[in-house]
Amino acid sequence: MKIPVLDLKSQYLSIKDEIDSAIKSVIDSASFIGGKELSAFEENFAKYCNKKHCAGVDNGTAALFIALKCLGIKEKDEVIIPANTFIATAEAVRMCGAKPVFIDVKEDALMDVEKIEDLINARTKAIIPVHLYGNVCDMDTIIRIAEKHGLIIIEDCAQAHGSKYKGQRIPVSDIGCFSFFPGKNLGAYGDGGAIVTNNEMLHKKFKKFSDHGRTEKYTHDEEGFNFRMDNIQAAILSVKLKYLDSWIHKKQLIAQKYSESLTNQITPPFVNSDNIFHSYHLYVIRTGKRDELRAHLEKEGISTGIHYPIPLHLQPAFSFYGYKKGDFPVAEKLAQEIISLPIYAELDDFSVEKVIGAIKSFS
Ligand SMILES: *Cc1c(COP(=O)(O)O)cnc(C)c1O
Repeated sequence: MKIPVLDLKSQYLSIKDEIDSAIKSVIDSASFIGGKELSAFEENFAKYCNKKHCAGVDNGTAALFIALKCLGIKEKDEVIIPANTFIATAEAVRMCGAKPVFIDVKEDALMDVEKIEDLINARTKAIIPVHLYGNVCDMDTIIRIAEKHGLIIIEDCAQAHGSKYKGQRIPVSDIGCFSFFPGKNLGAYGDGGAIVTNNEMLHKKFKKFSDHGRTEKYTHDEEGFNFRMDNIQAAILSVKLKYLDSWIHKKQLIAQKYSESLTNQITPPFVNSDNIFHSYHLYVIRTGKRDELRAHLEKEGISTGIHYPIPLHLQPAFSFYGYKKGDFPVAEKLAQEIISLPIYAELDDFSVEKVIGAIKSFS
């Protein structure tokens, strides 16, 4: 039997009745946009993140864009983002007409906070820390630097639902953007996203901007756009949110098992476990023989992933910025060495042992 990186079908089967009836009740009510399911999910998710407000939107990329746009990021502004992230982080900056300024990462694949101040100039307006894989950036340092230079922080929490920093759920600062892409720790059955904050004025801005800038049905006091989350996705997400902590717990146990068993073969993920509660959206190991190990695992029926094979500064889409190989050595080295192993709550002990055995048998 093959072991996939992620198995959304088995997750669905484990909560099928509840999901089916949540979907059916939206269809029965024929209220598809802006209904009670959306408000309920927004309330539930804000509470889960220990924040006052949540704006449900149609995907995580839009969440980042809306936050940047509503905070006034515009042409000629610069926004510091890590070189090792999904391209959406940079796209959102670009959509505002601003410039993503890349920064190298540390061995833990998170933004290297010691390099931030070198990049700050008069055009710098914001920092987007990306809590990659479910790990959490060094927020104390990032907040200190942002306060010193008057910069906005927007946390990209797309891979870190439920992660904690010093006991507090992320986002640690004012604004956190989430994705509910199906494969994320909390995933919709289609696209979805959210922005959470304690700031009521900003929250109202996010909501209005993502719903055509409207104040009444056909009164629009500002320009906006359509970035709404629909009720079917909201209803599904409210069901799944109830299980999120138990799924994260199971993933943590699998991660612990992998890390304990494999230290001689590969480099397990770095986690500062005193400060960080890692939600293991992904379990990413490192090895000098990455392609060989991947091929070996594939032969053993074990699928793996690479998150991500090309750092953003080397993406063809951004070649016009003129970055070159060697600019961000750690991000580039990681891109050659990382493998994401199968990890999901339904992955059984037998399969975990099979993955461990297959890695041990590789030499
Ligand atoms: C998934 C992801 C996004 C974008 O979310 P979508 O819902 O796919 O638009 C943004 N940032 C990171 C780090 C992501 O992993």
